[in-house]
Amino acid sequence: MFIKLLDKNLANMIAAGEVVERPASVVKELCENSVDAGAGVVTVEIAGGGLRFIKVTDNGCGIHPDDVESAFLRHATSKISKPEDLNNIYTLGFRGEALASIAAVAKVSLYTRCAAFETGVTCCANCGEITQSEETQGFIGTSIKVEDLFYTTPARLKFLKKDTTETGYVEETVRKTAIAHPEVSFRFIADGKEKLFTPGDSVLKNTVFTIYGKEAASQLFDINYSDGAVEVTGLAGNPVYTKKTRNMQMFFVNNRPVVNRMMSSALAEAYKGYIPGGVFPVGIIKLSVPANTVDINVHPAKLEVKFSDESRIYKAVYHGVRNALAKPVMPKIQYEKASTEETAVKSVYAQGKISAAVSEVNIEKIKPRSDEKFGRFVLNQTYSLKRNSVSGEENGYFMKAEAPKKSGYAPYTETLRTAAEKPVQLGIEVDKTADFQIIGQLFMTYILLEKENELILIDQHAAHEHITYARLKEQYDKREITSQQLLSPLIMRAEPLEIAYAAENGGFLKELGFDIEPFGNSDLAVRALPQAVNIDEVESLVQEIINAAMDKKQNLDTAVQERALFTIACRSSIKAGKRLTYEEMNNLAEQLFNIDKTVTCPHGRPAWAAMDKTFIEKQFKRLM
Ligand code: ADP
Ligand code: MG
Repeated sequence: MFIKLLDKNLANMIAAGEVVERPASVVKELCENSVDAGAGVVTVEIAGGGLRFIKVTDNGCGIHPDDVESAFLRHATSKISKPEDLNNIYTLGFRGEALASIAAVAKVSLYTRCAAFETGVTCCANCGEITQSEETQGFIGTSIKVEDLFYTTPARLKFLKKDTTETGYVEETVRKTAIAHPEVSFRFIADGKEKLFTPGDSVLKNTVFTIYGKEAASQLFDINYSDGAVEVTGLAGNPVYTKKTRNMQMFFVNNRPVVNRMMSSALAEAYKGYIPGGVFPVGIIKLSVPANTVDINVHPAKLEVKFSDESRIYKAVYHGVRNALAKPVMPKIQYEKASTEETAVKSVYAQGKISAAVSEVNIEKIKPRSDEKFGRFVLNQTYSLKRNSVSGEENGYFMKAEAPKKSGYAPYTETLRTAAEKPVQLGIEVDKTADFQIIGQLFMTYILLEKENELILIDQHAAHEHITYARLKEQYDKREITSQQLLSPLIMRAEPLEIAYAAENGGFLKELGFDIEPFGNSDLAVRALPQAVNIDEVESLVQEIINAAMDKKQNLDTAVQERALFTIACRSSIKAGKRLTYEEMNNLAEQLFNIDKTVTCPHGRPAWAAMDKTFIEKQFKRLM
């Protein structure tokens, strides 16, 4: 007889290896039990990285006295009783092995009392055996103390890190649990010091505020999305507020923290185009799905989940985040504290250079340019304005009525290949009441303007790209992207896969404003392109769009479309280093302020930033 049944205690120790990896796993299981018990307040206290002791106290429903001992035994759970229950789990625990596993590798003492009883029970277990059980006076709820973790399994101890690191893991766990349950107030104390205290007021942002601080909380947008069955809530970070790691990305399914690659990639996809490469967005994504559409029983620590309809979840996360981002944001300029001496020098220098000369300028004097258009900005207004100018220097927009060079942004007016030359209509209604005043252009890249007690800097490329994108998107949604027909087709070399893609997706390319067909075995013929696009850019643009579209991993057409629109917008926007006339700046600013979308440009840089009047006045000591 070589095969032996493992005795109960040994089996528990083996199970413990799966469930209880380190002190943080114990804390996770105990906190989950407290939440399952309906607690409103949970206190976690540890010492020595959790090895000396872990104590979790809650004001939940308590354990019935008759059940206390069996809770320590393997597979004792009050949460499921028949196989069908497995399809309908909304509690965090259900495997009924956590307490037994913990008790197998530590000394555990438990106090608990149900509301229906006058007294509670204390029960102690040591190495999987119950050593003591007695009636005790005390509060309603449960308190579990775990001492000398892993003392029966020294091998496990060797894998643990320094106490401070283990404390860090525990804190991470409490944070996650608190974020998963904003309706519960969590307190975490390590070696006598309070490290965390959440309000438990059910407002996720307040929980995040107490954990990550005011700055982080102010940079988060609420997610609120539902596709009928799948609900997505949580917080999505402002695209200007990114991190170097994925540490601030958290995913929850039915209030359970999970690790799920599909959800992570949906989050990443949602930020595509909004943030540059090499940084990661902040996102707390909470999914709420019918319990029978998700399998949470695929991992002992219940960290991984499996969805019955992955692509539906992917889409929900993607759109949930996207919608949250499509809100107006105005990033405030952050000032690094310079030493007072340095600031003083700068101020004096500035004072000497600037004299505020008020001049009256009538833009009407500028000759209308019939043959040039600023992209698609049609100019038909006259402006009369008062402004402050920087004395003597003819930088900025100074009214030289200088025609912009033809290269760059008005491509469709300049080639013989362009057929129709009719004026282009604005896709966006301009609000003529916008009350701002252009000050000038800075470094040939930024437009400076004054608006409601703020100095605003607009990045001309980012802003134009943003406007172009918004216009394209609006046209695209109506399937109305205007294209320019080429008199003779442009023939470009292409890879076999690219040719195949173009052959099969002519319809999609047409919606984007392209007319592209295979031409022989190794070329594509471009017969038409979106009006906004410069003909010089066509080849690389077509390559980029086709390759991005072929590359799509998830079957998500909106993402492919949006990315294609971003690419077109980027390729047809004015560049930095381009001198702009007043009219151009004014138009750009007006249109920008009229777009009710995030101000991050499609490629992830902010389009504008603002500086408070108070900040400026402080520099000149008008205000202290
Ligand atoms: P599971 O959570 O998977 O059911 P556990 O081993 O974690 O298994 O817990 C066993 C049982 O002990 C639970 O089903 C629950 O009935 C009871 N229990 C554990 N902790 C608490 C608590 N803090 N408050 C009330 N009941 C608890
Ligand atoms: Mg449990």
